[in-house]
Amino acid sequence: MPKPVIAGNWKMNGNRALLVDMVAALSRMNTSSKVVMCVPYSLLQTLEESAQNSKIGIGSQNVHQEVTGAYTGEVSVEQLKEFNVKYCIVGHSERRKFFQEDNELISKKVKRLLQSAIHPILCIGETLEEREIGDEQIIVCNQLTEGLKDIAFDDLRRCIVAYEPVWAIGTGKTATPDQANEMHQFIRGQLVGLTNAAIAAEIPILYGGSVKGSNAREMLAKSDIDGALVGGASLQLEDFKSIILSAQN
Ligand code: PEP
Repeated sequence: MPKPVIAGNWKMNGNRALLVDMVAALSRMNTSSKVVMCVPYSLLQTLEESAQNSKIGIGSQNVHQEVTGAYTGEVSVEQLKEFNVKYCIVGHSERRKFFQEDNELISKKVKRLLQSAIHPILCIGETLEEREIGDEQIIVCNQLTEGLKDIAFDDLRRCIVAYEPVWAIGTGKTATPDQANEMHQFIRGQLVGLTNAAIAAEIPILYGGSVKGSNAREMLAKSDIDGALVGGASLQLEDFKSIILSAQN
């Protein structure tokens, strides 16, 4: 079973003062989980400086697929590495929806990150309409296999998958622990098909979608839920701490 990963996704929220306070408090926690903070680009330097004596993983929320060039407003992997970034969210549903990112682009980003030894956190998940017509497994399978296409086994080992049903993100509506675990088992099965049982068992599969201190323990107790990707609650210190404590194994 992989070590639990609790990753916060601040999206376009937060500021330096909040981050410094939060990192100081999280650094004092005694946890066996891997805690990762995925902050806006503008906060990476503050995160790097404030987390330097802690085990907190430095994470970004996006990256450009090319190494360098005339891409105004974009940030490359090498630029992320200057801030010691070790994790990067890719394919978040908000980027798929608002920035038209498709599986082909997402796969390029995953490959670029792996080439630079940054762990991609690949987000996959169905919309409500897709679930209502019973297509959730088809969608999730497609996003997973396209996102991780043509990646060597050794690199797949360094990937993290986040199952985030779109209808549960920022809505206060969570999947039930059984619903989520059922999908995680399906994803694990797909990962076995892409690699083998040993590697698939090592890849953390996180759940994301309205995880809070009050529902995390039940969710994280499930057999195939290896951690959480947390949006809104990762901006609330007490809530985030309680999610981290729920993940002890
Ligand atoms: C997310 O944005 O990845 C997320 C899971 O958000 P929230 O926890 O706010 O639903």
